[in-house]
Amino acid sequence: MIAVSPVLQVVFDTPMRRRFDYLAPAGAAAPPPGARVRVPFGRRRAIGLVEARAAASELPLAKLKPIISAIDAAPLWDAATFALLRWAADYYHHPLGEVLFGALPKMLREGAAATREEIVWRIGDAGRAAIAAGARLGRRQQALLALLGGDGASAATIAGAGHGAVLREFARRGWLESRARPEAPPAAGAGRPGPVLTAAQAAAVGRIAAALGGFGAFLLHGVTGSGKTEVYLRLIERTLAAGRGALVLVPEIALTPQLVARFRERLAAPVIALHSSLADGARLAAWRAAAAGRAPVVIGTRSAVFTPMPALGLVVVDEEHDASYKQQEGFRYSARDLAVARAQRAGVPVVLGSATPSLESLANAAAGRYERLTLPERTGRAGKPRVTVVDLRIHPARDGLSPPALAAIGRHLEDRGQVLVFLNRRGYAPALFCSNCGWIAPCAACDARLTVHLARARLSCHHCGAEAAMPFACPVCGNELAPVGEGTERVETALRQLFPGAPLVRVDRDVIRRRGELEQALAAVTDGRARILLGTQMLTKGHDFPDVTLVVVLAADQGLFGADFRASERLAQQIVQVAGRAGRADRPGEVLIQTAYPEHPLLKCLIAEGYEGFAALALEERRAAGWPPYSHLALLRADAPVRGDVYAFLEAAQAAPPAPRERIRILGPAPAALARRAGRHRAQLLVESPARAALQEFLGAWTPALAQLRAPRALRWSLDVDPAEVD
Ligand code: ADP
Ligand code: ZN
Ligand code: ZN
Repeated sequence: MIAVSPVLQVVFDTPMRRRFDYLAPAGAAAPPPGARVRVPFGRRRAIGLVEARAAASELPLAKLKPIISAIDAAPLWDAATFALLRWAADYYHHPLGEVLFGALPKMLREGAAATREEIVWRIGDAGRAAIAAGARLGRRQQALLALLGGDGASAATIAGAGHGAVLREFARRGWLESRARPEAPPAAGAGRPGPVLTAAQAAAVGRIAAALGGFGAFLLHGVTGSGKTEVYLRLIERTLAAGRGALVLVPEIALTPQLVARFRERLAAPVIALHSSLADGARLAAWRAAAAGRAPVVIGTRSAVFTPMPALGLVVVDEEHDASYKQQEGFRYSARDLAVARAQRAGVPVVLGSATPSLESLANAAAGRYERLTLPERTGRAGKPRVTVVDLRIHPARDGLSPPALAAIGRHLEDRGQVLVFLNRRGYAPALFCSNCGWIAPCAACDARLTVHLARARLSCHHCGAEAAMPFACPVCGNELAPVGEGTERVETALRQLFPGAPLVRVDRDVIRRRGELEQALAAVTDGRARILLGTQMLTKGHDFPDVTLVVVLAADQGLFGADFRASERLAQQIVQVAGRAGRADRPGEVLIQTAYPEHPLLKCLIAEGYEGFAALALEERRAAGWPPYSHLALLRADAPVRGDVYAFLEAAQAAPPAPRERIRILGPAPAALARRAGRHRAQLLVESPARAALQEFLGAWTPALAQLRAPRALRWSLDVDPAEVD
């Protein structure tokens, strides 16, 4: 008689949209959903994840292979997080295997143990007897004794304290005993008290704290420095006091060191940071500590939303408007949206904080789905900065700088102010041009121009990374070539010539390449050595520049006519964020915005009424045009080396079932804004519906049909639900 074993439905780290059935080991307990197993897979062995257990399979049981072994006895995730992951795979119509494995640290994907005990050493009976009998102990022996008191210490801790040799000596004498205990959590923070809350902060804390213990979504709208982080800290203190933990999402790694240090100083609990530059081992240790509930405060970037936390009590998303919360490749999820979904599943409050909330979140607040809490302008701030527009048609710019902008820079430098110049384009110039025949240096692999990097004498493609030497003359007519337009490198050259006495710091991806370099560069601004700060959107995040009295936005037009429906929202956020980082009480700030379109309604509105006025008008435009949040989108992207293959695939997708398409519109195929990148032709279908449920229902039937379409091997396609960019 063969024992009846339950069937394990297993998924793998592959794009396959299916699960595979295996037999659970006879006699032993079957691994639960969410546990890893080693199984035979074709001729190989592979690590899979149990999605579910079942009593039967579509195949006869005799055809199923048994698993080789179970790696985990318990699920890797708490129930709410595992439910979130399964829901996310459904919602984004992405293969579950990739979703689950993608949520794990690399070492867990490769089979490392999910829990770890460490061995600790203590003085045993024999040792205690010897010491009681008067064994002679030197200073170093005494120090080790102190370390071994209480719960004992691990060999690593003892070696780290410099007592490894003495430990070996005690072992030789037979004085030690050992036992295993769960790996020690990171050290708890200092638990320093915070400032007395302002009335607005206290009100916000009160509203959100009243919701602790159940789901509630809050939009915390307050300018930079208005005290949002202080509100998070108070709420986390309350969460900890209730014996629960907090998950805090932040957009950028550059933000994390300062923020983590502040959390560690304030909270009397272990705080761990999860971000992409952690080494594999450190990431695994942090994951284990969070999963075991030993690190109740987790601060992390996008993927930290999937960190298991058994006693989650609060979710915070700082700078919730930030584009980096949306993953742009593979599993294209929004960590902001998943944070809300996770809070819902865990039955805890979620706080979305921003100085420039996304239009989606503002619409959610207006619809009553989120409660909106406002922190007024920061205290110690001399009102709003004065904003002026420079019309570039009247005041033509040279090297990107108009005469009124140069005059203002000179004036502020003379008054011992600091100046911030914002231009969201790196390199010397965005194109190299022949004025004789009109030739423009193209990227061979993209429908794009090469950017001039003059100092390196190179041309570089900012889309595919291709590089070429600067030509000496036009390859077509032999004429001289000239860089047209400007990037930060060119503006730097001009500013250094025009203001030789003003030390300048430039911040963009060409000059800041490694972690820590940004901190270093900005230190020169904060301590006053640098007088001019020039940079790209790197400047719009995380750092305050209290002595900056003038902010100049060089090319505000880039966002006004972008092909993407979100372009103007991003532009407004960048302008408000960069302007909001400048100024302090005794020095009212001034903001200059250069544009060739001063009468553009959105720009006018932003300048006259600020971000809120802009947001109201932009939402009206979205409603009139039927864009999100008043419609729901999915984008099917495809690319291939042969253009015809891309369009043939998308046309087949257009025609693919399901046939009745109630409340669904499919637009395209249309070329992507960059119709060729890195040698591949790119096009897309836009799926649109006024109702999220209708879109989901359609995609649920359409995605499997797409997977069945015949396409050349070299063709790649992907589905992006709630795309951040549709151009
Ligand atoms: P945000 O997160 O909105 O940028 P923070 O919470 O970082 O704002 O606060 C900005 C600065 O003001 C910080 O230096 C913080 O310590 C300080 N701060 C915040 N709240 C208060 C308060 N109630 N009283 C005094 N200082 C405060
Ligand atoms: Zn030419
Ligand atoms: Zn290119």
